[in-house]
Amino acid sequence: MRCCAPTAAVRWPRAPARAVDGPPVSKIIEPLRGVHDILPAQIGAWQHLERVTREVFAAYGYEEFRVPVIEQTPLFKRSIGDFTDIVEKEMFSFVDQGEDHITLRPEATAGIARAVISNGLLREGRLRVWCMGPMFRRERPQAGRYRQFHQIDAEAFGFEGPDVDAEMILLSARLLRRLGLTRLKLLVNSLGTPAARAAYRERLVEYFGAHEAALDEDSRRRLHGNPLRILDSKHPDTRRIVAGAPRLLECLDAESRAHFESLCAHLKSAGIEYHVEPHLVRGLDYYTSTVFEWTTDALGAQSTVCAGGRYDGLVAQLGGAATPGIGWAMGQERIVMLLEAQGLAAARERPQAYLVMAGENTTTAGFALAEGLREAWPDLRLQINLGGGSFKAQFKRADKSEARYALILGDEELARGMVALKDLRGEGAQVECPLDGIGERLAGLLGLKGMRVAE
Ligand code: ATP
Ligand code: MG
Repeated sequence: MRCCAPTAAVRWPRAPARAVDGPPVSKIIEPLRGVHDILPAQIGAWQHLERVTREVFAAYGYEEFRVPVIEQTPLFKRSIGDFTDIVEKEMFSFVDQGEDHITLRPEATAGIARAVISNGLLREGRLRVWCMGPMFRRERPQAGRYRQFHQIDAEAFGFEGPDVDAEMILLSARLLRRLGLTRLKLLVNSLGTPAARAAYRERLVEYFGAHEAALDEDSRRRLHGNPLRILDSKHPDTRRIVAGAPRLLECLDAESRAHFESLCAHLKSAGIEYHVEPHLVRGLDYYTSTVFEWTTDALGAQSTVCAGGRYDGLVAQLGGAATPGIGWAMGQERIVMLLEAQGLAAARERPQAYLVMAGENTTTAGFALAEGLREAWPDLRLQINLGGGSFKAQFKRADKSEARYALILGDEELARGMVALKDLRGEGAQVECPLDGIGERLAGLLGLKGMRVAE
């Protein structure tokens, strides 16, 4: 793989050091900067988020869409825009061996719009989909900001009225509520039509131009390329100037104003609390009309957990038939951090039973017993002991597995067609049970839903 700017700072491991007269000593390979592992101990919150996400999207009739992680670089340049942070400095781009210019997706909307066009999915005119997966941006890593992170995305194509804007926001609200999260605030704004936005842009250039000397360096650079992004600056001096900047809502055309007012009315009647934030803009060029964000005061500087808006020009910009669109993206890491901070992270799933096998002939019989149980009760979580070991060692492992019950198969029990059952977390004594009845017994104790498959 040949890399071209902008690229990740790949630190290749050095050749293994060689001990004098000994085998090569391998050096540990560190993860890349800004990427993180999600460990089994943390997976409970992730799986919970993903499970609730699937349920909520199903409840709104949205279908899952999986698109590639790699796309042609021009896709992102053309859609997100040359003067955005993402395209200017955050993309992981490279030229592969076939000379294709490839970028790891920094967000999902452009890829979904591309896929919707490539697969002719807009022939019927309308589509409501969602997607979940890793995104890549070469940002300065910090808590809540990674170079590989994950997003949940919702996208709807072919709807031009404000009803879909309301549905999108209600959907995100329901997802956040179903997760039990609090301390969240919904901000909404309208960017208007491209013409209204262009007029506003001129007013901003004029206003910020008059304050140019007091702007931070990034904002000065953006003054002529992407002045709307100055509104988003986190720099304290620039924020003071932004406070006096003209407001987009004041420049709105009549149609955009009516659209926005109708959205607000929908939100009001649905009982969703919102705040009109006149300086809310999004960092990607394709947004028009409605924009919104869910923010929290519980995560420090990385306060936006979900952001989205309309992109009515995007499909046409990418060569498809003119089709309105709207979507949002939710940062999974930030949601997981909130779940953890608010004590809502679900525990990871541990085995319910652990099979201890001690004796010469018990391994084969133990495997057969375990497979039979899994066949009959598909929801049973059963871990078997691997690698032998004394009773004591196996019980230690059973305890560590956090299983509630141990099944104990010894030569002597096996000869009598029996297996022992021990409650590892309760007081109850160890009991014996016939091998062909242990499944029913365990299912009763654990309240398993699985149905016994007819033989
Ligand atoms: P920010 O202002 O935080 O940089 P953004 O405007 O770049 O966000 P979007 O492109 O709208 O963000 O992405 C939607 C959501 O994805 C964000 O609100 C955030 O929750 C999450 N997100 C974006 N970039 C990152 C990142 N580098 N690491 C973790 N989460 C991220
Ligand atoms: Mg960003």
